[in-house]
Amino acid sequence: MTGHTSTPENQRRIVVAGGGPAAHRFADAMHTRGLEGWHVTVLTEEAHVPYDRVTLSKALTDVDYDLTLGDMSMWEHESISLRTGERVVKINPEAKSVETAAGNTYDYDHLVVATGSDAAQLPFPGGELAHVYRTLDDVWAINKAIAELTEKLGRTVRTVTIGGGLLGLEAAAGTMELGAQATVINGSRWLMNAQLDEGAGQALGRLVTAKGLEVLTGTYPAEVLSDDDGQVTGVLMKDGRVIPADMVIASIGIRPRDELFRGTEGAADGPTVEQLFELGKKGGVVINDHCATPVPGIFAIGEVANFDGMCLGLVAPANTMAEIVADRLHGGQATFPGFDTATK
Ligand SMILES: Cc1cc2nc3c(=O)[nH]c(=O)nc-3n(C[C@H](O)[C@H](O)[C@H](O)COP(=O)(O)OP(=O)(O)OC[C@H]3O[C@@H](n4cnc5c(N)ncnc54)[C@H](O)[C@@H]3O)c2cc1C
Repeated sequence: MTGHTSTPENQRRIVVAGGGPAAHRFADAMHTRGLEGWHVTVLTEEAHVPYDRVTLSKALTDVDYDLTLGDMSMWEHESISLRTGERVVKINPEAKSVETAAGNTYDYDHLVVATGSDAAQLPFPGGELAHVYRTLDDVWAINKAIAELTEKLGRTVRTVTIGGGLLGLEAAAGTMELGAQATVINGSRWLMNAQLDEGAGQALGRLVTAKGLEVLTGTYPAEVLSDDDGQVTGVLMKDGRVIPADMVIASIGIRPRDELFRGTEGAADGPTVEQLFELGKKGGVVINDHCATPVPGIFAIGEVANFDGMCLGLVAPANTMAEIVADRLHGGQATFPGFDTATK
């Protein structure tokens, strides 16, 4: 059913686009500060209630592991609505409303965009055959595929993870726990090169190799190979080597989900969406230290928000931004202090 939502007139309506950790923290921060006079509607495209992406790997090895963030009773509050399976496809700043893929329109007084990031796809032939590692559905799909391949092939499944950062290592370790023989390929000469210097990265490489993970560094893949049925058979490297694989997982980075701020459409004779907002060089919508975009009433928090020229793939700043917006909506003066890039 499609429709136009309305809330009691004496309530100020907040719509949150996105339902990840930042959106959850924002709803929680509003709930904690008091919802009198407010109505918060969270629209998330995923079928799940907001969950803890940081601990996603636990659901790779145990599909029943409950990652739900916070206390479910919050979503039963009369001033909070959570709509799963609702993907926001358009912001109409002039009408102060958003539209969803299902054809629903939600009016707002304040819009908080918390659409996060998605996993980058492999940019070479066969890349579309690789799994990515971002959502609950992604890790469930990997778990299922390993079980099915083990049965079909009648031997140990070989996984190759492309990307030797934190997430790539988590993915590879998870597949090993599921019985696979795992290889990690990293273009840099050492693992976790964004966080560690060469000495520490080499030491990490020795530690994980001792645990049974095959590590290939300083080398780049060129193609994911497959048979006539589309079953992955290996990874062709730029140096001509073929690394045998039954499954490939891409963990090569993230891209901000800033598509709501891109587009040449605008209100009649008005500015386009792209003219209203500013996008960072590598994506993400630019915010100020109030976490506000240049459009009055529209905030952005979490990984989609570009502050000081960058978007950061860490949960702590996402939580801080969520608290700042809740504080400001309650009349506070909190400001975002800038990113602490330490990975915990
Ligand atoms: C495996 C893994 C391990 C991690 N480990 C760590 C760690 O150890 N430490 C750390 O700090 N960080 C870690 N992170 C990163 C951390 O999870 C993110 O920083 C955090 O999830 C960001 O939250 P977010 O709400 O901004 O974005 P997201 O988590 O990406 O959530 C955005 C949500 O919005 C939905 N959405 C997107 N567009 C729309 C739309 N148009 N309409 C409706 N819904 C939409 C998405 O489907 C998603 O559910 C990890 C991430 C992964 C994947």
